[in-house]
Amino acid sequence: MPYTTYLVEKGASHSFVAEAKPPTVTMPRIKALMTGSLPGFVDVVRNLNSPALLEDSVIRQAKTAGKRIIFYGDETWVKLFPKHFAEYDGTTSFFVSDYTEVDNNVTRHLDKVLKRGDWDMLILHYLGLDHIGHISGPNSPLIGHKLSEMDSVLMKIHTSLQSKERETPLPNLLVLCGDHGMSETGSHGASSVEEVNTPLILISSAFERKPGDNRHPKHVQQTDVAATLAIALGLPIPKDSVGSFLFPVVEGRPMREQLRFLHLNTVQLSKLLQENVPSYEKGSHPAPAQHPTGTAQKG
Ligand SMILES: [Zn+2]
Repeated sequence: MPYTTYLVEKGASHSFVAEAKPPTVTMPRIKALMTGSLPGFVDVVRNLNSPALLEDSVIRQAKTAGKRIIFYGDETWVKLFPKHFAEYDGTTSFFVSDYTEVDNNVTRHLDKVLKRGDWDMLILHYLGLDHIGHISGPNSPLIGHKLSEMDSVLMKIHTSLQSKERETPLPNLLVLCGDHGMSETGSHGASSVEEVNTPLILISSAFERKPGDNRHPKHVQQTDVAATLAIALGLPIPKDSVGSFLFPVVEGRPMREQLRFLHLNTVQLSKLLQENVPSYEKGSHPAPAQHPTGTAQKG
């Protein structure tokens, strides 16, 4: 992926290895990315029919804030967020032997949507790479072609965003990630290193990072993405998010701003603790004064 490599090495980007928790299948992983919360057992059961997501999420916060969201790709998103997209085109992952049409069905919208100025968030979930994994594994000769295709998609989006920035005062954020990895045989669902490690690249002209210090990307959690996106978009962090926003991303910002972001994340996390850990409240207050001679009585 020469263009992506160029962006990673040029410096206006931050790269991470984001660890996905098992089960490494699409539905719970999209939930983790958008809610920042850890899936329970019930999600595995629900993956079969993917009902609408009830938990707080970046998508819900964005929609509430009046952002217009457009989605193209894996139809799991449309099932999870049935009323959230201003426009969408879902692609079924049922025909796992197809790795061309599933992606053309996403890319065919690109030229048009990138020219428009009526959206705030564009989400694309390509399926082809995953399908090639299932057909012939991660070392398949088909992988190289697919990555090259994805690289030109990224170039198209990045070039378009850059030219748009000349007209608007605010910088854009481009996020490239995977929902899960794939094993040596091209499958996924379990917890091998190859299945849980996913690439996470954030690209924005807002970043001030010296080129060349990204050789060893930091390992982070997939659940850190939700808080990071919320802060980037100026939205409240989803209520149940257990993630920490990715601090390197704001390291170039003024100290006051950095502290404000940390404060927002800390307040959200301590609220989550208060609501879910009964012993947390007790520990956070000083112990009541003991009467020197009295005996404790239970009312
Ligand atoms: Zn798959």
